[in-house]
Amino acid sequence: MKTTGFRSFVLYILLAAFLGGLGYFLVMLVVNGENWVAQPYNGYIYAEDSTLSAGTITDRDGMILAKTVDGKRTYAESESVRRSLLHTVGDSSGYIGTAVQAVHRSRLIGYNLLTGLNDTIFSGLGTDIRLTIDADANAAAFDAFGVRDGSAFLYNYETGEVLVKISAPTYDPMNVPEDLSENEAYEGVFLDHTLSSSYTPGSIFKLITAAAAMEAFPDWNTRTYTCEETCTVGDGQVTCLDYHGELTLEQALGHSCNIYFAKLALDLGADTLQKKAKEMGFGEAFQFDSVSTYASSIDLSNADDLTLAWSAVGQADVLANPYHMALLMGAIANGGSTPEPYLMGSGTGTKYALTDSTTAAALHTMMRNNVANYYGDGMFGGYTLCAKTGTAELDNQKPNCWIVGFSDDPAAPYAFAVCVQEGDSGLYTAGQVIAAALNALGT
Ligand SMILES: [Zn+2]
Repeated sequence: MKTTGFRSFVLYILLAAFLGGLGYFLVMLVVNGENWVAQPYNGYIYAEDSTLSAGTITDRDGMILAKTVDGKRTYAESESVRRSLLHTVGDSSGYIGTAVQAVHRSRLIGYNLLTGLNDTIFSGLGTDIRLTIDADANAAAFDAFGVRDGSAFLYNYETGEVLVKISAPTYDPMNVPEDLSENEAYEGVFLDHTLSSSYTPGSIFKLITAAAAMEAFPDWNTRTYTCEETCTVGDGQVTCLDYHGELTLEQALGHSCNIYFAKLALDLGADTLQKKAKEMGFGEAFQFDSVSTYASSIDLSNADDLTLAWSAVGQADVLANPYHMALLMGAIANGGSTPEPYLMGSGTGTKYALTDSTTAAALHTMMRNNVANYYGDGMFGGYTLCAKTGTAELDNQKPNCWIVGFSDDPAAPYAFAVCVQEGDSGLYTAGQVIAAALNALGT
């Protein structure tokens, strides 16, 4: 009896271990099965010689951006479309983790827990995906980058539909460069810089400094400061591109006068500017589909006067994420809040409130004044554009060239942020990119 009892005991232990293990496996299958199937190392899903077919991806007009033909993943016909949409559509190996082919891979391959792969009956959705992207506008904007790196993001601030999303460096997914991992020119190529990077903003940050003044100073509209091209602050200097004389806030934003905004920031104080920047989304990671975006950053907690003055014009250690900048533009255009942008379906319904409606209206007026009276409408054929440019000075390289803004046209409610690295100026370098996109979209 003693021996039998011991054997039964061992058997029960083994049985319990077996059932426990089985249970664990089933739970893990339910939780992770979708990811296991669609891992990049399950290469046959998108790779050549595949017997499984992934769904077709098209743009808003039905242009094919990616499809599987005879077991091989192929991409759009136009090389500019392919290169400009690499970070949106994705690559065949799944290295670009924020792209549709990575984020929605289980949808594209029709994964279902009960039946496995290529199930279109139970999943009920089909495996094809239609994006909100306008591929022609994307390619036109990409061509305007020339060989430069940077990012561009444009979306409809009423609906949230994304029409243009570009990240460079990039490559052609139909002709993957062999030196992708060694060549310095491809450094960071798997990152979508619109979502996952931040750049020195330069003068586009003056919008945030202006917003802080609107809230802190009841007389902001008539308050003037005088620019004499240089200004001593602490033990250093703030410099301007010109001798602007006495200016109002609106004039200072139009001329993009550094001295005005430096003096304004010294009167505001670091805490007030920091608080306003936080309210407007600095330090916050936003969502884009299921991707968490990289936060813009500013830290004035230990800033001396000179650092505060340079931070107020978007220099020093201030960094801005292009997606966040586009959201802020959409919010200003929309009375203070914006729908979360999306690439497919009808979006998440999330709204981001980034400013109050009074500040939004005042910034709106001044940004329209910038284009009408300083930049010129001629460049943006037919659109009623509201914008702010930035030419961020960097050590040992040419400036980051920005343009952020939105269209005031009811039929074309687009908000955008463009940053081109190592360009000439915000207006000419980044302005050409957004002009190309807007012209391709038509009013
Ligand atoms: Zn000035």
